[in-house]
Amino acid sequence: MQISFRRRILTLAIETSCDDTAVAILEKHAVPVPAGPSATLHFNEKITSNNAAYRGVHPIASLESHQANLATLIQKSLAHLPDAVTSTSQIARRPIEVFQDGKATLKTRPDFISVTRGPGMRSNLAVGLDTAKGLSVAWQVPLLAVHHMQAHALTPRLVHTLNPSANNASTQCSQPDFPFLSLLVSGGHTLLLNSTELTKHEILASTTDIAIGDALDKAARHILPPSLLASCQSTMYGALLESFAFPSGSSDYSYSSISSADSALLPPDQYGKRTSKAYHWSFAPPLSSTHGGKKASSMEFCFSGLVSAVERHTSHRYFLSPSSSSSSLSSSDPSGPGSRSSPGKVDRTPRDPNSMTAFPEEERRLMAGEVQRVAFTHLASRILLALQQRQQQPNALVVAGGVASNHYLRHLLSTTLGGRGHADLQILFPPPALCTDNAAMIAWCGVEMWEAGWRSGLGVRPVRKWLLDDDGEWVGQRRGEEVGMGEGEVGGEGEAEGKGEGGGVLAVGGWYNVGAGDVIE
Ligand code: AMP
Ligand code: ZN
Repeated sequence: MQISFRRRILTLAIETSCDDTAVAILEKHAVPVPAGPSATLHFNEKITSNNAAYRGVHPIASLESHQANLATLIQKSLAHLPDAVTSTSQIARRPIEVFQDGKATLKTRPDFISVTRGPGMRSNLAVGLDTAKGLSVAWQVPLLAVHHMQAHALTPRLVHTLNPSANNASTQCSQPDFPFLSLLVSGGHTLLLNSTELTKHEILASTTDIAIGDALDKAARHILPPSLLASCQSTMYGALLESFAFPSGSSDYSYSSISSADSALLPPDQYGKRTSKAYHWSFAPPLSSTHGGKKASSMEFCFSGLVSAVERHTSHRYFLSPSSSSSSLSSSDPSGPGSRSSPGKVDRTPRDPNSMTAFPEEERRLMAGEVQRVAFTHLASRILLALQQRQQQPNALVVAGGVASNHYLRHLLSTTLGGRGHADLQILFPPPALCTDNAAMIAWCGVEMWEAGWRSGLGVRPVRKWLLDDDGEWVGQRRGEEVGMGEGEVGGEGEAEGKGEGGGVLAVGGWYNVGAGDVIE
């Protein structure tokens, strides 16, 4: 009798689409544990380029960081490949010799190389893709060049497979079966997706201007005390905005869910009462008054208005004269220009945005919390609309991308959805290290595509703009694009492939399928 068993799958993965140079080694085990398939992450590290001097992602600085760090990180990872000689003295097929500290060790050869093909900055993607092709040719194993956002969407399935026995809501590690909704909130994207199959991810809503992470980073640069900004090593100002607004965590959340079930949108009068009373500013919900309110319930996200409002109330704010203002700020600032105003008139002299007297910490903290509340409530409103519009309820809502590590977002989404009749909907948040860009998610996406029989040709090129769904329009941009680096001049085979054949994971050329099913060793 021939005994067949599913082969273990081992992949080395590379991610270089933006400012993180990331490498991972992932093994999906041959023998499932009783709770289901299981996997081990042997290596998962990244080096983020130092963009602090540019106060945002700079394409050339990121590119140089990939060039400086990728090969070294791969070299480091090789020591973490499983040993080729097992405890029962069996030798893995086609082992590779790895030299480390002057010593050679036999390691298991990866079955294939996973790499991000797009979307992202073309030159940055090319560093990872070309290196991956080199490894693929040198080791004589296939290449899997995957979609970055598909990888984000599949991350909770990786989390579950890494912890298969922790399959319950309290650990937030359940594997979502298709269909599920995904909210991808990162520095370059704000997408609400309906994921129905491995390669089918319908875009339900997308940002019409900037991504939420970008908006929070920009708002943070206006709101946070300059000394705090200067001490920040990374450009993840959104994370700093959270810790500044809520230093004690959940006990600082003053938000309570609005439970009336009759409207998916939160009424504008819920906003800003407290802030407008104390400080003469408040932030309207995005799209609430665009085109005379016609966009109030449209399936799109918009964040630039919120950032502009923050800019207006910080960099270019004006003092009200003490007699007409209830603001504790102007009256408590004896040296401020407000004290020179005649009663009842607005003094048009702008405050110094760096002055802690003109913009005290208490007000900054309140504004930091309010910006997050307004932005996150906007996200929640579109999820509620999507749930109202769907006949088939999704198995879960996955929230991924860098902004998903925000604990206030997690709190606000669960209280809002719970208060609106969706308490049963499982909301899955990958752990923060797997929410931001990483190569483990690229490895997992490679594993899922590999199991479905997909392989990439060695001629594939980076795809700068790659639509995730069949008929979606490209909206939004990855960070760093606006700085420009002659991307358009490189010619655009990859991009043309994506546009010419419509959107979708498989719409770009270069895929071929060898047939799915169990691989017999
Ligand atoms: P990604 O593009 O997925 O790597 O995510 C990076 C983005 O996530 C940046 O815009 C960060 O500011 C943002 N981000 C990371 N952590 C947080 C957090 N705790 N709260 C808000 N935004 C965050
Ligand atoms: Zn990302």
